[in-house]
Amino acid sequence: VDALVADARGSGVGDAPARTREEPWPNDPYPAGSGVAQRYATLRRLLAGELDADAVVTALKDSGLRGMGGAGFPTGQKWDLVRGTQPGSVKYVICNADESEPGTFKDRQILATQPHLVLEGLLLGMAVVGAQEGWVFIRHEYGPEEHVLRAEIDALRAAGIVGPDACGSGRRLDVDVFVSPGGYILGEETALLECMEGHRGEPRNKPPFPGNYGLHGRPTLMNSVETFADVPVIVERGAQWWVDQGAGESVGWKFFAVSGHVERPDVYCVPMGTTVRTLIELAGGVSGGREVGAVQPGGASSNFIGPDRLDLALDFGTAAEAGTMLGSGALVVLAAGTDLLAASTNVLRFFRDESCGKCVPCRVGSTKAHALLEGRSTVDDDERAQILRLEEAMRKTSICGLGQVALGPVVSVLGLDKGGAAARDQPKPGGEPGQPDR
Ligand code: NAD
Ligand code: SF4
Repeated sequence: VDALVADARGSGVGDAPARTREEPWPNDPYPAGSGVAQRYATLRRLLAGELDADAVVTALKDSGLRGMGGAGFPTGQKWDLVRGTQPGSVKYVICNADESEPGTFKDRQILATQPHLVLEGLLLGMAVVGAQEGWVFIRHEYGPEEHVLRAEIDALRAAGIVGPDACGSGRRLDVDVFVSPGGYILGEETALLECMEGHRGEPRNKPPFPGNYGLHGRPTLMNSVETFADVPVIVERGAQWWVDQGAGESVGWKFFAVSGHVERPDVYCVPMGTTVRTLIELAGGVSGGREVGAVQPGGASSNFIGPDRLDLALDFGTAAEAGTMLGSGALVVLAAGTDLLAASTNVLRFFRDESCGKCVPCRVGSTKAHALLEGRSTVDDDERAQILRLEEAMRKTSICGLGQVALGPVVSVLGLDKGGAAARDQPKPGGEPGQPDR
């Protein structure tokens, strides 16, 4: 496993120095260099009956841990819901490792360096909700990370930690890896389920949510890589420890992928609530000593914010209040002088290309808006109004997040162009604020 981990580390982004196993991330409760015999201690305690499943759910609820894939749904609430749904039914647990948001590469580093935490979190989820089968649905380009995971799973099987009699508990816990056939939309949780069932990978209408009606129609607990990786330390050290790690009112640790015009693009693990400014400084500042032009704090789906918002504390709530979102924890920095409309049109092109085409507003709206904006460095008032109408239609009528947010970055840039106002300050047809109301 260590050789594969070293290999996967080498596949990191840019020229960033590889993080070593001797320097564990702060969400790892296990000493550096531990093997499977020392790790998975929380799982062993749970399966031995020394730890109560309700206590695990309570710890997650008290910790305030929220889904780190982007949407920030309370993790303890989700586990509780799946645990309480259809007792005795077949259930599944899935780790969504189909990280594909442009600028987002934190899960890749977590998979490469902490496969044990991702798998222990997933196994804890299985034991808590009563599932026997767990899956890691991994992006097809993450080959080295897939090998790391498979090697770790083999080690778990050899040690009897998973299998027909997991940890000698008499309970079956089996984990496997499902490689995505490719396509950004497959990371949307219901498209992922359709794909795993052998269907065309298109999102389902929600509700029902996967917690009630998931894989093969069974209750399914799905969390992202980072969310599962945070679970063991919360259960091991307690909810209060996690709460205390955050900055200010925020709780816990947060992995950010910082990229764009910075000196050291890399993955940084910092207290939740760290400011945009601090993260840019950690990444060595804006490349070439330039000023910040704009920042996308939460991946391609998030609205751009201007240089007047660098002291924004990055947390789910504060980011939303500032008219953007924490999203997938991908801070994309654009230096002053960058053509922001061109940059946001490029994001729109990505969404247009990745739209699955199932619903008309997303399929047609993204195409129309891109055709209007392509190659433009400015728009007149009529065109601006047209973009705002398309954004509203897509936000309100698209069935999944892709269509709902596709035009948000463009609209936020049009707001910034209009004298530095944030997108949320832009008047909308019907007088609504610009932030997607999800
Ligand atoms: P969502 O708000 O619909 O759901 C979030 C999670 O909470 C889901 O697991 C959902 O099943 C669950 N949930 C929500 N309401 C529920 C309820 N009432 N009962 C039970 N469960 C409930 O968001 P989403 O569409 O799943 O995700 C959108 C987010 O994904 C965006 O914020 C974006 O940042 C992020 N994203 C991430 C990536 C990436 O690569 N990490 C890529 C694209 C988008
Ligand atoms: Fe597909 Fe777009 Fe509709 Fe989502 S919003 S289901 S990506 S067409």
